[in-house]
Amino acid sequence: MKRISLFSPGTIANISCGFDVLGVALDEVGDIMHIEETVEPGWRISAITGADLPLAVEKNTAGVAGLSLLNAYKSKVGTHPGFHLVIEKKIKAGSGIGSSAASASGAVWGLNELLGRPFTPLELVGFAMEGEKLASGVAHADNVAPGLFGGFTLVRSYAPLDIVALPCPNDLYAVVLHPQIEIKTQDARSILKTQLSLKQATTQWGNLGGLIAGLYTDDYGLISRSLVDVVVEPIRSLLIPGFDELKKTMLDSGALGAGISGSGPSVFALAKGSDQAHLIAQAIDVNYRKWGIDFEVHCAKINTQGIKILNE
Ligand code: ADP
Repeated sequence: MKRISLFSPGTIANISCGFDVLGVALDEVGDIMHIEETVEPGWRISAITGADLPLAVEKNTAGVAGLSLLNAYKSKVGTHPGFHLVIEKKIKAGSGIGSSAASASGAVWGLNELLGRPFTPLELVGFAMEGEKLASGVAHADNVAPGLFGGFTLVRSYAPLDIVALPCPNDLYAVVLHPQIEIKTQDARSILKTQLSLKQATTQWGNLGGLIAGLYTDDYGLISRSLVDVVVEPIRSLLIPGFDELKKTMLDSGALGAGISGSGPSVFALAKGSDQAHLIAQAIDVNYRKWGIDFEVHCAKINTQGIKILNE
């Protein structure tokens, strides 16, 4: 029976100026998943470690995403073999570092490998988005796309789905502080204003263009100047205890920029080089203790490969 073990990365969505369109994949932070072909037909989740999440396929993002791929495969080929899935959750759900997306992307990527790659990466994004719809009510792609493609991705359009894989400077790292409080994506979305001023819009798309140009030209100064969000951060940051001071500590410790990871509560910084990233991690580790909230700090290189196979 065929089987695969894989690492599916955590991701930072939005990245300050790219609300709902930009995302980036992380190294080391992510889910480990094992998918195995079974004699009995069907698709089931047999175990989840590290988190209390439903095993029922229709209630789990990995289950829903996998089912959507297997249904499409069945329409193509007429039938499909059976599979079962084991998930080792390494990222907490509701963290804002793409926990739901890591499971959804890993499931569809692994199934596609075991079936002999019948689907394109873009089609995999579409299946994984079904998992995101379960998690947050919206079939968004800004976490699943970087997970599946690696590096930075831009969702240029949803209809039709158009994903652009962006280049990434070699020495770029991310530091993420995850306060152990829960902010539901749906709640973080409901507080946003639905209208922008022209001034906000021009500032935001100037920065988005600048960030993308900086990624193409390895211009860390331009990346740094462009990591500004005048639309979402001023509102969402109110939900994160100590956000302003945390961001200041990150910038004072040499971060290129800092902001809210996805819909929060995690806060991220980008840094040039591993040493700088570790300095930022140390500074926030000391500084955030005063809030009396449990937290964890991740320090990771940008993952340009996306999902990785752990066995042959
Ligand atoms: P995150 O940004 O960390 O993915 P979301 O709020 O978008 O957070 O999604 C978390 C929600 O998805 C939770 O309600 C969780 O119960 C649900 N969920 C279902 N399956 C999974 C899974 N395999 N991994 C993580 N979350 C899952």
